[in-house]
Amino acid sequence: MKVQVDAQICAGFSVCLGLAPEVFELHDNGYAVVRTSEVPSELEDAVRKAVSQCPSSAISLTDSLDSESG
Ligand code: SF4
Repeated sequence: MKVQVDAQICAGFSVCLGLAPEVFELHDNGYAVVRTSEVPSELEDAVRKAVSQCPSSAISLTDSLDSESG
């Protein structure tokens, strides 16, 4: 599973950081950025929670099901 934060939409509420500090961090500009775009499986629940609780709906998930690497 991959995660992205849309910097255009993020409003810096830091909800995501509270839920998954291993995955999100606050950029100098006050908005969230992703530390690791590939979400470790043990953090998927926390990241899904962040997605649903982000007040701006700025976080999006993509399944990493592409079979690029065979
Ligand atoms: S919860 Fe949403 S709006 Fe708040 S910092 Fe995270 S991505 Fe940005």
